[in-house]
Amino acid sequence: MDERNKQTPDNLSLYLEFMKGAGIDFIPARNLAKATSLSTTLETVKTPPEEKIKLKPEDKSTSSLEDIVKEMGDCKQCKLSKERKNIVFGEGSPKATILFIGEGPGKDEDEQGRPFVGRAGQLLTDIIEKGMKIKRESVYICNLVKCRPPENRNPDKDELAACRPFLDKQIRSVSPKVIIALGKLASSTLRGRDVKITQERGEWFDYEGFKVMPTYHPSYLLRNYTPSARKDVFEDVKKVLAYIGSKAV
Ligand code: URA
Repeated sequence: MDERNKQTPDNLSLYLEFMKGAGIDFIPARNLAKATSLSTTLETVKTPPEEKIKLKPEDKSTSSLEDIVKEMGDCKQCKLSKERKNIVFGEGSPKATILFIGEGPGKDEDEQGRPFVGRAGQLLTDIIEKGMKIKRESVYICNLVKCRPPENRNPDKDELAACRPFLDKQIRSVSPKVIIALGKLASSTLRGRDVKITQERGEWFDYEGFKVMPTYHPSYLLRNYTPSARKDVFEDVKKVLAYIGSKAV
């Protein structure tokens, strides 16, 4: 039988559950055909070369997350500090296997001092908990910038640069097996060049010895409520799950 047409029930049920978790309770016939012909199972997803994930010993001398928070203090290093209500440092397991990076806090996050707690946050939580079957508390979630850009604009270059040392320390402190870069800006920032997220999502890259999986930002999914965009995210997180293996979570 043609591999592409082979039914993979486990994969299909995972896919269907993921779509349900992401708010889709129907699949048009043409997408169902695609879903049933997903040619990869979690076991067969190709993983990138091992050598890429090795951390140099010196990278492991890190600050604790508490120390980084202390170091940030009442940070005034960029203009975002003027209008913020709270610094949104990040949250989750300090030893998480998966670290998610978004752009910056929105209104809800600024008010609560927690990342991804608004609408996009709810979708991210569903992707993590219903789609990936992982507890939100067991991953780590943070943003490129820790203070809300007014009117939810993209962070400016100087703001990204001011926050970058804190982000880098945070990544080294958690030392995840995989970073999931949410959206174009997080992916471009880590890659150091403009990333076309529609073309480059799903392709592993390396950031300072850490493996990064770029995927769509949940806000993009909220704007593009299409099964195909959600299926793309499903494919991306499936690669991550295959790479870390279920024992790692
Ligand atoms: N969007 C982000 O990029 N980060 C958040 O914390 C919330 C929404």
